[in-house]
Amino acid sequence: MKNKIIISNPNDMHVHFRDNEMLKLVVPETDKIYENCIVMPNTVPPITNREMAKDYKLRINKYIKNNLNPLMTLYLNENTDENDMIRAFKDKIIFAVKLYPQGATTNSDKGVKNLKNIFPLLRKMEINKIPLLIHGEDTDEKIDIFDREKSFIDKYLTKIVNKFPKLKVTLEHITTSEAVQYVKETTNLGASITPHHLASNRNDMLVSGIRPHLYCLPILKRRKHQEELIKVATSGNEKFFLGTDSAPHEIKHKENICGCAGVFNTINSIEIITQIFDEANSLSQLENFVSKNSASFYKIPFSKKKLELIRIDKPISFQDELIEGDLKIKIYKPNFEVNWKVSRRF
Ligand SMILES: [Zn+2]
Repeated sequence: MKNKIIISNPNDMHVHFRDNEMLKLVVPETDKIYENCIVMPNTVPPITNREMAKDYKLRINKYIKNNLNPLMTLYLNENTDENDMIRAFKDKIIFAVKLYPQGATTNSDKGVKNLKNIFPLLRKMEINKIPLLIHGEDTDEKIDIFDREKSFIDKYLTKIVNKFPKLKVTLEHITTSEAVQYVKETTNLGASITPHHLASNRNDMLVSGIRPHLYCLPILKRRKHQEELIKVATSGNEKFFLGTDSAPHEIKHKENICGCAGVFNTINSIEIITQIFDEANSLSQLENFVSKNSASFYKIPFSKKKLELIRIDKPISFQDELIEGDLKIKIYKPNFEVNWKVSRRF
């Protein structure tokens, strides 16, 4: 039995920092653990051009003490200026572009209404090798919330990958066995997986009472889907990598008559994933999932810095909330014990 594991510093390929006071609270938590992170652009207002991405990065950088490298994104919409987008990418101000179908999740009301309208932009992205990140849910209100990911793949994603075969596409925060299968068999398509979709399923959210802090989008699915995600994450398959989708909301906006979607899971994210890999007898694949697969997929250097985790006898006690002034966020906690702890970074 392994009691210690050393991996290269992990990458979080999908994180929401929000803006203003929230940055002070959440950026340092990602900075404590991660080397690179892809920062989502669905702030209010969304980050829709080069100038905004540049300013947002400066606001984030104020709270970085270690080596975190925030990789910025643009919020794609029908009005995106292609020259501004290409310039932002060539100047390394942005790393990728994010597609939200209109209304799919928090602050996505400015998202894309009709996919066809952005085809010329996708063509430019393909030519200029700009990665496309997708929130893959069909927002047609007739589609059941548990079927939205599958419907998006069938109706839209197939069109995008067939029309733009050289475009590098990431299907973000996948939640279903159908997504796993589709990503496996499709060239130039990768997928991020969150800690909470590996650790929880819809029963955790809905049995014996409704737990608003587990409500996220895409919504937690059945156990059989959770098991498929664990299987592929622990398999070492290079197309699948960690993106926490850590998405803080103030507690008052989660414990609400119409609570917001999003789980704040940065704290203990690596420990939780290590526990899952340990239970799947796959600790040897941990580094691939949290550090190396994403670096290979996006062609960024492997971290030379290391993170050490040790097995502990007494399970870690999860801190309940993160508080700064009037701001309070609930910290994600799985329904199992975690016997791994980050012991040092070096
Ligand atoms: Zn997200």
